Amino acid sequence: MAYKCDKCGKNFKTEKEAEAHEKKCNVVLTKPHYQKDWLVVLLLCIFLGVLGVHRFYVGKIGTGILYFFTFGFFGIGVLIDFITILTNSFTNKRGDFIIRD
Ligand SMILES: [Zn+2]
Repeated sequence: MAYKCDKCGKNFKTEKEAEAHEKKCNVVLTKPHYQKDWLVVLLLCIFLGVLGVHRFYVGKIGTGILYFFTFGFFGIGVLIDFITILTNSFTNKRGDFIIRD
């Protein structure tokens, strides 16, 4: 998980470093992506999605609890999440996309 500069390919761990570098390369660095979590989130969604476990995992506790008591929002929520994860559009609580490597 790091900010990456598309221009020079450098990685930055903190938001501060990223901001300082934006001026240097004259680019806007994208939000951090959590590539290594993608498969974990996908598997949690498939096997434990009706209990909202994949949502707990990414920090979305509120909807996780909702899923837990409604069997994945009556299965519809889990199905939508499954598609969202597959298309690299699923986000964690901070809004960072969880994308495939
Ligand atoms: Zn750069």
